[in-house]
Amino acid sequence: MTGYSADLAQVCGCQWAATGTTSDEVVAKTKAHAKETHQMNEVPAAIVQKLQAAIRPAM
Ligand SMILES: [Zn+2]
Repeated sequence: MTGYSADLAQVCGCQWAATGTTSDEVVAKTKAHAKETHQMNEVPAAIVQKLQAAIRPAM
């Protein structure tokens, strides 16, 4: 598998990793998760910063 993943334990505390073929896809999936799971219609900048830091290439 190639792409990117973000361990959300570092972002919102969930035991879940967002994955995607591009970092943009990881961000989009995490924003959808934040909206559905955490009722965040707008993801706070602090969360986005944590997310950007958590994204890394997936093996
Ligand atoms: Zn979460």
